[in-house]
Amino acid sequence: MTTDSSSFGPNTLLVRSGVNRTPFQETSEALFLTSGYVYDSAEAAEAAFLNDGSRYVYGRFGNPTIALFEERLTALEGAEACRGTASGMAAVFASLACQVKAGDRVVAPRSLFGSCTYILKDLLPRFGVVCDFIDGTDPAQWEEALAKPARAVFVETPSNPSLELVDLQAVAALCKKAGARLIVDNVFATPLFQKPLQWGADIVVYSATKHIDGQGRCLGGAVLGSQDFIKGELVPFLRHTGPALSPFNAWTLAKGLETLSLRVHRQAETALSLATRLEGHSKLITVRHPGLASHPQHTLAKKQMTGFGTLLALDIKGGKEAAFRFLNALSLIDISNNLGDAKSLITHPGTTTHQRLSPEDKALQGITPGLVRLSVGLEDLEDLHADLMRGLAAV
Ligand SMILES: *Cc1c(COP(=O)(O)O)cnc(C)c1O
Repeated sequence: MTTDSSSFGPNTLLVRSGVNRTPFQETSEALFLTSGYVYDSAEAAEAAFLNDGSRYVYGRFGNPTIALFEERLTALEGAEACRGTASGMAAVFASLACQVKAGDRVVAPRSLFGSCTYILKDLLPRFGVVCDFIDGTDPAQWEEALAKPARAVFVETPSNPSLELVDLQAVAALCKKAGARLIVDNVFATPLFQKPLQWGADIVVYSATKHIDGQGRCLGGAVLGSQDFIKGELVPFLRHTGPALSPFNAWTLAKGLETLSLRVHRQAETALSLATRLEGHSKLITVRHPGLASHPQHTLAKKQMTGFGTLLALDIKGGKEAAFRFLNALSLIDISNNLGDAKSLITHPGTTTHQRLSPEDKALQGITPGLVRLSVGLEDLEDLHADLMRGLAAV
């Protein structure tokens, strides 16, 4: 887009930003499925490797289709810069690994996606980086943990699958004092409903596999932040360690962004309607959704989110056995550990995405034996409601 993009609204940005037409003047964005580039002369190759960034030299460093995806997401997020990655986990790992060193301390809430916990709890300590885990919903624990210096703070808000929130503005202020950079995994909120950078976060990461693709086709991820951080710290790490996004996936994700707003608004509307209808059902202990007044952090959700997301967590009476009976009785909603898809998907985190956690850690994260996580898709509300009623009747 050649005009000043800052004046456009999010829906316009999602369709128009990053467009860089070839001389063929195609309507739909071109897909550059190439790993390398050629040079007119040996001198031109030499000049390219002096690396002034003015041309592409190799697929691991950059590609025009990946740049399309990155520019579109940068515009939506309101960030200075972005780099795509092969998956959400590649984005999470790169955002941390590019900046920590032995002796550093990281702080994170316990309530995290299983693989994020693995990176912070099992992997980084092998390299001398320790992580202190706290209850991310408790301001006093944040105060205490960030009274000491830290290199980075990593949070998911809302968290997967417990839908716990972290007060971004308060934690960002504490991070400044502790000298820590605040990294926010914004997958559950989506870039439409929460802008962590505006609350003082330094870095935002996405699994683009989820709502950004939104149609269950490919893996991808992204890291967004300041130009200095992306160019100075992230890019060298990505260039030399190689978690590059495939151009084909970047194209799919860039086209996914075009419909992100329509899909996510509709999915969130259905999610809130289902949560409201299910609350108080005799077979349920709780219905968790940030949009319900009964959510312990509903006030915070209203402050820092402009929508409440597309996910619900249901705690079914009768534990694992009851939860399995519920899942197995559904005939429309699919059992799948993915989320953010156009198709409604449901999972039992305790035996799938969070299986590796100890019983104590599961309890601390609110992953009870009866907990199921529902990712609401684009089906009709009445059909989804009827399916959930069918499931609950089987409990
Ligand atoms: C899925 C997910 C990830 C990992 O993303 P992949 O694309 O599967 O690697 C990270 N964080 C959250 C919150 C997720 O839901």
